[in-house]
Amino acid sequence: MNWKEILDKSVVSAEGLTGIPGAEVEEISRVAGVYPMRINPYWLKLMKKAGAPLWRQAVPCADELTDSPLLEDPLCEEKDSPVFGLTHRYPDRVIFLVSNRCALYCRHCMRKRKVGKHAGAVTDATIEAGLAYIEQTPAVRDVIVTGGDPLLVDDDKIEFILKRLSAIPHVEMIRIHTRVPATLPMRITAELCAVLSRCEKLWLNTHFNHPAEFTPEAEKALRLLNRTGAPLGCQTVLLKGVNDSPAVMAELMRKLTKNRVRPYYIHHGDAVKGTGHFRTSIETGLAVVNGLRGHLSGLCVPAYVIDLPGGGGKVPLLPESILDQDAKSLTVKGYDGKTYTYPL
Ligand SMILES: *Cc1c(COP(=O)(O)O)cnc(C)c1O
Ligand code: SF4
Repeated sequence: MNWKEILDKSVVSAEGLTGIPGAEVEEISRVAGVYPMRINPYWLKLMKKAGAPLWRQAVPCADELTDSPLLEDPLCEEKDSPVFGLTHRYPDRVIFLVSNRCALYCRHCMRKRKVGKHAGAVTDATIEAGLAYIEQTPAVRDVIVTGGDPLLVDDDKIEFILKRLSAIPHVEMIRIHTRVPATLPMRITAELCAVLSRCEKLWLNTHFNHPAEFTPEAEKALRLLNRTGAPLGCQTVLLKGVNDSPAVMAELMRKLTKNRVRPYYIHHGDAVKGTGHFRTSIETGLAVVNGLRGHLSGLCVPAYVIDLPGGGGKVPLLPESILDQDAKSLTVKGYDGKTYTYPL
């Protein structure tokens, strides 16, 4: 089966999970009516039992409907949007949505208000408007091609978008942000990689959240992507019940770097409506970072960031390491937990 045939066989309604132990069909149906569900056969086979990390990321849960103080768009992506599907917040870079569909609808998605919904639909006309904005805005040197998942778009349309962006002299970097290496690795075909390898400005960020996402198929997809020459990164979301422990996160970072993917960010879960049950405390996030730094190569340690509400942007958080300071020295905590004196 090719990737489209696999995708077509996805479970998109609660009935499709009937008979799977732990699947509460009535509850799933209620939630999926608000936030779309899509679990493709590849993920369905991997996700094991109720409550397991891959299950939690994919199966609708009643908690999605009960975190009402949270907002749909706390980061104000729409406010900073000069044309539909494009967010221009930082001076030199934009987010450019070229699809609102995904190979799996992650329950923790920060664009839950849009993905898989008709109102969030991207069309050829919205893509054209986004391209025109970028062409006419010389400040934009970095374009983040995202969605939804940009790699759910056909190869020829991806090639069209990459060619148009590549031809803009002020665009010096193009980044594709995609979760398909984890959720539908069969999408990474030789044909797609040929398209990607023709774009010399390309970087590619994946989104892996748990070591169990590294199957032989996913590792093959990463091998193919590495050969395109695009530097590979990963944006992980800190998720309660999925990866909120130093041991799981360290294992995830080892898997990434073993596959030559450079961990870029660990995102603290944004305060997005429908995702509150995934949010951990900041202390948990800092403990996770503490479990990485020094214990693993610096290449295995991404920045842990919070994204400020209202469009304030991302800010990295670090565990406190300076314990004391005087005119002659700093007192610093090492990764081993011991206290050291650093001369000034
Ligand atoms: C995260 C984000 C970016 C990209 O930020 P980097 O730190 O460069 O990866 C760009 N625009 C918006 C609105 C963002 O939220
Ligand atoms: S793949 Fe990305 S955009 Fe799509 S549902 Fe998951 S987190 Fe959201």
